[in-house]
Amino acid sequence: RVKEKWAATRPKYPPTRLALQHCDATYSAQLGSLWPSVRVALLSERKYGALVNNFSYETVLANLQAQGCRDFISDIHTEAQSCLQEPKVGADEELSGVSMKTSFSASQQHSTLQLSPNIKCVVFPRGDITRFKPARPDMYGLLGYYLMDAASVLPCLALDVQEGHSVLDLCAAPGGKSLVLLQTQAIRFLCVNDVSASRTLRLKRVLNSYVPRQFLTDDILRITSFDGTKWGEVERNTFDRVLVDVPCTTDRHSLMEDDNNIFSKSRTAERRRLPQLQLELLLAGIEAACPGGEIVYSTCTLSQIQNLSVVEQAVYLARENHGIQLEVVNLRPLTHMFRKTFHFAPDLQLGEMVVPHLAANFGPIYMCKLKRLT
Ligand code: SAM
Repeated sequence: RVKEKWAATRPKYPPTRLALQHCDATYSAQLGSLWPSVRVALLSERKYGALVNNFSYETVLANLQAQGCRDFISDIHTEAQSCLQEPKVGADEELSGVSMKTSFSASQQHSTLQLSPNIKCVVFPRGDITRFKPARPDMYGLLGYYLMDAASVLPCLALDVQEGHSVLDLCAAPGGKSLVLLQTQAIRFLCVNDVSASRTLRLKRVLNSYVPRQFLTDDILRITSFDGTKWGEVERNTFDRVLVDVPCTTDRHSLMEDDNNIFSKSRTAERRRLPQLQLELLLAGIEAACPGGEIVYSTCTLSQIQNLSVVEQAVYLARENHGIQLEVVNLRPLTHMFRKTFHFAPDLQLGEMVVPHLAANFGPIYMCKLKRLT
């Protein structure tokens, strides 16, 4: 009998198994009784959302709605506007039914963001796991929608891009969130950056497939491939809005795919360095924002070390090393609006997090918003 070739090279413990061991040990302590249900969801098929491309001539929204999808952003737009007015004192308790722990010392500000009416993302109803068909090109070759984790739209909404803003997307490839930001059609100048040359090529392909050429000129959109941690050496105090969507352990991918898995033995050092890289990227993003500007930090992991701890350290180091005072913006009004579409982690000390759930299998997505006071 001939031994199959892979038997000799196949690792004894595949990366997905190592990832599961790691998640079990870390998240059972972090999430407590919530972990078993989050674990089942993470190990089940994920759910997508379709970001409607306003630049396309295809009338996809009506077609998608006819298939039973709903635009979870426009749906609640009217309700959202009333929720987002200045909340009353104690609104946290009213909105969530739980009080926020406030052991973190930075001051918190209520979010007064306005949702762009141009961002539309459709999902199949709760519990419906129908898959989207691939998007089709219109007569100019532009695709009608972009499939992504619907929860990935939330950090872009939290960024609250306004008319005339200049925006930096520091870790942009493959470009899902850049596309969401461009849908607002409010940005004066967008800079999209990613250190990886191959992923930057992918980003360019995505932009070319969704955005007309006249919006891709250098004065409107700049595509760069710098190491984001060194952004401060080039440009500081510049952008109205900065998105720092960092590389992380990508929990869902790590649990499901052995290929390109950060839990593979050969990538142990890279994985251990992640929190430091994330911290350096966030600090660079903070420096790149102008005084008064706002920064959103986001990941797709449940890990406290890559989420809350990174933000805490960045706020501290920005003050100590760069003299930049920051305020944490309370995103509870935003999560309250979308509570029927996503499951959010309760009682997070800092930031908000979509946790996967079998009936709404989006996320994980963590986001925290900071405002530069100086
Ligand atoms: N924002 C993207 C989107 O929505 O499609 C996803 C970004 S992904 C989570 C993180 C990205 O960070 C990867 O594309 C990776 O190449 C990039 N990255 C890693 N290290 C970086 C660095 N030092 N500077 C800039 N980008 C970096």
